[in-house]
Amino acid sequence: MAIHEEVKKRKTFAIISHPDAGKTTMTEKLLLYGNLIRSAGTVKGKKSGKFATSDWMEIEKQRGISVTSSVMNFFYEGYHVNILDTPGHEDFSEDTYRTLTAVDSVVMIIDSTKGIEPQTIKLFKVCRMRGIPIFTFINKLDREGKEPLELLEEIEQVLDIETYPMNWPVGMGKQFLGIFDRYGKQFVQHHTNEAETYIPYAELDNVEHEELTTNPTYEAAKDELELVAEAGDQFSLDAILHGEQTPVFFGSALAPFGVELFFNTFISMAPTPTPRKTTEGIVQPDYEDFSGFIFKIQANMNPAHRDRIAFLRVCSGKFERGMNVKLSRTGKIFKLSQSQQMVASSRETVEEAYAGDIIGIYDPNAYQIGDTLITGKETFEYDELPVFPPELFKKVTAKNVMKSKQFRKGIEQLVQEGAIQLFRDRLTDSFILGAVGELQYDVFKYRMQNEYNAEVLFESIGERIPRWLKEDQVDESLFDGGNLLVKDRHGNPLVLFRNEFSLNWFKDKNPKIDLIDLLS
Ligand code: GDP
Repeated sequence: MAIHEEVKKRKTFAIISHPDAGKTTMTEKLLLYGNLIRSAGTVKGKKSGKFATSDWMEIEKQRGISVTSSVMNFFYEGYHVNILDTPGHEDFSEDTYRTLTAVDSVVMIIDSTKGIEPQTIKLFKVCRMRGIPIFTFINKLDREGKEPLELLEEIEQVLDIETYPMNWPVGMGKQFLGIFDRYGKQFVQHHTNEAETYIPYAELDNVEHEELTTNPTYEAAKDELELVAEAGDQFSLDAILHGEQTPVFFGSALAPFGVELFFNTFISMAPTPTPRKTTEGIVQPDYEDFSGFIFKIQANMNPAHRDRIAFLRVCSGKFERGMNVKLSRTGKIFKLSQSQQMVASSRETVEEAYAGDIIGIYDPNAYQIGDTLITGKETFEYDELPVFPPELFKKVTAKNVMKSKQFRKGIEQLVQEGAIQLFRDRLTDSFILGAVGELQYDVFKYRMQNEYNAEVLFESIGERIPRWLKEDQVDESLFDGGNLLVKDRHGNPLVLFRNEFSLNWFKDKNPKIDLIDLLS
């Protein structure tokens, strides 16, 4: 089949949410529709110990969680669906952010009882910065939650994006009667312990539905919907695809209610693989030569072999197992003979792949995060992966000074690989590590010990707000010990502010100094 035809079938997305909003439950339901799993409850082997025999990274077993942003793929309604997992909780790390560079759209799950939560905001900002289309699913309608209008307002105000409710809920909790499906012009009726039923708008006036349509909860929701239709934003697929408007769906992942309807609409609207920027201009997904970039490297997935797997997003052409590719950064040629696709927690060999697909390739210790692999005559590199602002900082030293050579080598390589960020104190030159999640420190410590034979000691600096400065505006006298002045690994100066208060206080006192936030 022509490359173009294959690309048109790909839908590659991630599900983002604050922990406990229902991401796992939703993922399981989607996998059920895709016939990938037979019963729900198999996505994370968290407590069951189901994957105890797998060759997952040692640290993963110790913590009983999945470090990997694994990829799930299945066929649905003629589409080849790729779902990239974005871990939450303590396993939140820079990988979580980087995963978002490899998708074409995002599903944002919000808990209707809680509204917008901190981790949602962080992940949303990254999507926004990159213009990734965002589809919203407001979950847990089977519980007493916030009012739908209030939730929409919260999304608009906190996240600063237009909303368009694709459906409108009627009641919630025990009074949850169903949703008006504005897009499909039908009422989807909720029944406890039974599958949802669909009533076309035109049939709602029939006597058989009188019990429903005369219910005060139904009438109130209908009035509300009319108000929304008049006062709300107009639906615009163009705005959605530019990440300026988010279509909002209501439902319950657990029930499940409204999930299939959501997924069908999402799959039809979500973009297929998009053209991507390179050093030599835009590359189309159906361009004949193979190309892709590495957004994540997982080391020691198999302790017996000490192997490293690089996760590559295919951006153009056709990947075929055994093909020779060129690493743009060095010009070196590699044969991609070991390639795998990640299905939940098992690996399968993949023979061919197209734009939008994610493959795991064996890394002979040659790749770096952000590397471009290509075939064909032309050489180019995909846009550099953005650096994400770390939030947690620790001073790091070698436990044994005799091992300082291994210590430095280990840090240098792990930092280059993108496992963690390195800063140096401007005055003392001591090593300060920055990460977005605690897990990165655990992985760093483990790998320093196991791969470089260098035990490390941490001294916590705590949560900080990093802001970059222009070199000519650096004035050491302005920063006391509380707000640390450091430099990043390229030598650029930045300040680690103690908290929001000290940041604002500094801004008030020094209006002329430009402070640069990476996520704005
Ligand atoms: P994650 O941390 O975002 O992956 O969230 P989970 O999918 O693990 O869900 C967190 C908790 O919320 C679990 O106890 C789920 O059973 C529950 N949950 C998920 N979806 C719903 C829903 O639609 N309604 C209700 N009542 N509970 C839900």
